[in-house]
Amino acid sequence: MAFKEGIDLDSIAYFNERFVPLREATINIMTHAFQYGTGIFEGIRSYWNENEKQMYIFRMKEHYERLSNNAKLLRLELNKSIDELCQLTLELMKKNNPTCDMYIRPNLYKSGIIVGPSLINKNGSNPTGLSICTMPMGEYVDISKGLHVCVSSWTRVEDNAIPARGKIQGSYVNTAFAKTDALLNGFDDSIVLSRDGHVSEGSAMNLFIIRNGKLITTQVADNILEGITRDTIIELAKKELNLETEIRQVDRTELYICDEVFFCGTGAQVSPVTMIDHRPIGTGKVGQLSKQLQEIYFDVVKGKNSKYKKWCAPVF
Ligand code: PMP
Repeated sequence: MAFKEGIDLDSIAYFNERFVPLREATINIMTHAFQYGTGIFEGIRSYWNENEKQMYIFRMKEHYERLSNNAKLLRLELNKSIDELCQLTLELMKKNNPTCDMYIRPNLYKSGIIVGPSLINKNGSNPTGLSICTMPMGEYVDISKGLHVCVSSWTRVEDNAIPARGKIQGSYVNTAFAKTDALLNGFDDSIVLSRDGHVSEGSAMNLFIIRNGKLITTQVADNILEGITRDTIIELAKKELNLETEIRQVDRTELYICDEVFFCGTGAQVSPVTMIDHRPIGTGKVGQLSKQLQEIYFDVVKGKNSKYKKWCAPVF
């Protein structure tokens, strides 16, 4: 398949326990999740390895573990094991048979055709639906150069309001506000703060800073998504660069004076940030450590580093 970014309605999706063309995977307008945002989702990447003619899905198991945990928050009933979800995804990928980098989007949602926001499943009136679709995906943000970002005037959703760790559909309105304002104001993306003014994360990615040779990332209690890429970077920094990550609160102004900043996420991968609120970070160029971690990360996700093949599930 030639690389063509975007959603192909003729591709195969998993919907209502069946494989169907994506154009047939439609929901009723009264679906609970459509009205109230009562679903959770995942974003998984798979990378095409041209040399091996193989497709590797990155940390699929961990993504489905997160989905399975988050199902508890919204009282969603996941009737499949992690292993079954992985097998289903491999089967779906095989059906679509892609030969380029892909993005996989599972959704687990309240599929009841009912009015009223309650999550309680009265007599099966608000059951759970599962859908999975795939699409070619290149860069979510431009990772070749440094990003110019702002600190958003929108604050991150609180754990006691809509928990960010939940990857809840409705909570992405918060992301949409932060991302849209950033774009309209001429920035590439944004950083959101928690309500008490500490750095939370990027609009849809986690954040690391480097200060005096120390790698630092924001803490989960500052309303971040517990990112799988964040976890990957922490492990790679330790094993490949002998660098421990400090996990702690970060102030807004610490961003301005640190040496390097980068975003990370399934979509964002490893994206260096070189300007925040019109202030150059470090030298104003992509930092050395960010670049190094980016290179290590790409080798790992593409299945080129045998030490981390455990994270790469082959499709074919
Ligand atoms: N934070 C938010 C709000 C996100 O949407 C994402 C993307 N899933 C991330 C962080 C990064 O998480 P992960 O590395 O698991 O993709």
